[in-house]
Amino acid sequence: MINESQLKALHSFTNLLIEWFEKNGRDLPWRKTRDPYHILVSEIMLQQTNVEIVIPIYGEFLKQFPGIDDLARASLHQVRRITDKIGYTRRGKFLLEIAKEISKNRNGQFPSSLDELLDLKGIGRYTAGAILSFAFEINDKSAAIVDVNVERVISRVFGFWRDERNSKFDKKMWIFAEEFIMGGDVWKKNQAIMDLGATLCVSVKPRCYICPMNILCTYYEQIVPKITPLDSFFD
Ligand code: SF4
Repeated sequence: MINESQLKALHSFTNLLIEWFEKNGRDLPWRKTRDPYHILVSEIMLQQTNVEIVIPIYGEFLKQFPGIDDLARASLHQVRRITDKIGYTRRGKFLLEIAKEISKNRNGQFPSSLDELLDLKGIGRYTAGAILSFAFEINDKSAAIVDVNVERVISRVFGFWRDERNSKFDKKMWIFAEEFIMGGDVWKKNQAIMDLGATLCVSVKPRCYICPMNILCTYYEQIVPKITPLDSFFD
């Protein structure tokens, strides 16, 4: 499904991205750990919430529940007292249920395969991939991730757009995300593409003029010239 020229472009994209990330990557607390429990907490907290809001709550949560067994022993009230500060009340429930399942039924052994992770209630394909790449650094396709940032970057750079009538879009997106991480460095690649989507390739007013991808980006080549100054997407 990926042709030769797209593969070549993907290779160039990856090299530029890593070079950019090594100089510009964000310093985030969950990037200093490979503990799957800590990664799980960060990923569940980051759902539908921005990084700045999550950082202090993530710290408070791990201070209160430093390990998965500590969390498994807590009451829902104790958990939600912290997680409700960032909204989306089901977060606390999911975290507690996952902790109980791993602590009680799996002897505290955190699952490290895609199928086992997907068996846990509250963990979908994106979160499973994030745990596999950011905690276990699994070097295979199971560690691929597609969230809104990744989707936006890949879609714009490689020039295929979401179309309600095109059911193949999601499949194609995952194939790109899987191909992107092949060849190793999965942790860095996935962190880098998420950072690009969160800082330069944002949904409104993407910062194309300072983006290292603009030399190969389809959106920059084909869409940007059609944007009139009045509805400029740029700062
Ligand atoms: S050039 Fe613009 S559209 Fe392309 S990846 Fe960079 S910010 Fe996104």
